Amino acid sequence: MTDLPSAIVGAVTSVAGEGPVDLHAPVFQGNELRYVSDCLESGLISSIGTYVNLFEEKLQEVTGASFVVATMNGTASLHVGLRVLGVAAGDEVVLPSLAFVAPANAVLYAGASPHFFDIESDSFGLDPEKLRKWMYATCVARASGCINRRTGRRIGAIVAVHVFGHPCRIDEICDIGREFGVPIVEDAAEALGSTYRGKALGTFGDVATLSFNGNKIVTTGGGGALLTATQGLADRARHLTTTAKIDHPWRYVHDEMGFNYRLPGLNAAVGVAQLERLHFFVKAKRQLFWRYMAAMTEVRGVSVLAEPREAFSNYWLQNILLDRTQSNQRDEVIMQLNAAGYGARPAWDLLPELPPFVNFPRQPLDLAQEWVKRIVSLPSGVGI
Ligand SMILES: *Cc1c(COP(=O)(O)O)cnc(C)c1O
Repeated sequence: MTDLPSAIVGAVTSVAGEGPVDLHAPVFQGNELRYVSDCLESGLISSIGTYVNLFEEKLQEVTGASFVVATMNGTASLHVGLRVLGVAAGDEVVLPSLAFVAPANAVLYAGASPHFFDIESDSFGLDPEKLRKWMYATCVARASGCINRRTGRRIGAIVAVHVFGHPCRIDEICDIGREFGVPIVEDAAEALGSTYRGKALGTFGDVATLSFNGNKIVTTGGGGALLTATQGLADRARHLTTTAKIDHPWRYVHDEMGFNYRLPGLNAAVGVAQLERLHFFVKAKRQLFWRYMAAMTEVRGVSVLAEPREAFSNYWLQNILLDRTQSNQRDEVIMQLNAAGYGARPAWDLLPELPPFVNFPRQPLDLAQEWVKRIVSLPSGVGI
């Protein structure tokens, strides 16, 4: 009998072919070059111009969001999202403990404290039941908002993150937000093209954010977007991301501290072409999931992470889950996959265990701590 690491390498080879195969590799086989040339010829390569508008319109179309503001990256969108929702210095912001570092950084940019919560095992997103229980036990409604009685701090927002492209239980999280009067930031950076109960991710939160970094399902090199159904929030986000400049034909009047966070036209040109292919990318990633499923049925001690119930996932990142008794083999599995040329990696270290966040409050993280040791991410490019 072959050992688990070599069995997994064999299964990955049967799906992805001989290495090297990166974890993510973008594919530019649509109109990217044409639109970039056109953008260069127009001279409108910065943040004013046709391609930024086109990109925002196309994002509206694919998500159904009412308003879209394109930004320079997902982290900037999160920062501005928190700000337009009124998160301020001294506030506390609820965050899941298993996520990329961006939302936790954005909370610090806003001058607020992250407060880390456990995940649930169906989607690996924030556990709504544990959160609701904690809020009932700990928070009170005051004129200034929802207050954590232990710390005396206001809960400024709840950030829900859809990890690996799989929808978290976002509607239950939104219910909690409404119940306690706390706004929701929906970090859909990894989840463009996914739906939950038939509704596109990125349209649930008071604001939602996307990323178009090179590893995401649609890339602009670097880029992001803020989505909202509220015109006032969109207007304010647009204003803040364009240096808070008042519209005027020649004067430079900025009415508050602003940010230079808008997406350049050159990047937007790539994005318009990429969005034309989103449907194909989602299809390719979903097929890749089934191919990994088929290959891994032969391997004992491991399963492939499937989309949660009532969800349609873009399968942005493919993951295998080692059985509990096999989690001590994770590092060996990752080492052997990399030795064979596959860009496999573990899940992110839990946010509250990273140096900048160790001193912030956290709730018991039983599930996050267990699952993080069992996840191995596999090559997920649409070209595989
Ligand atoms: C990629 C990502 C972001 C934003 O990343 P940027 O690199 O700033 O565009 C935010 N949250 C999650 C969960 C991500 O995966």
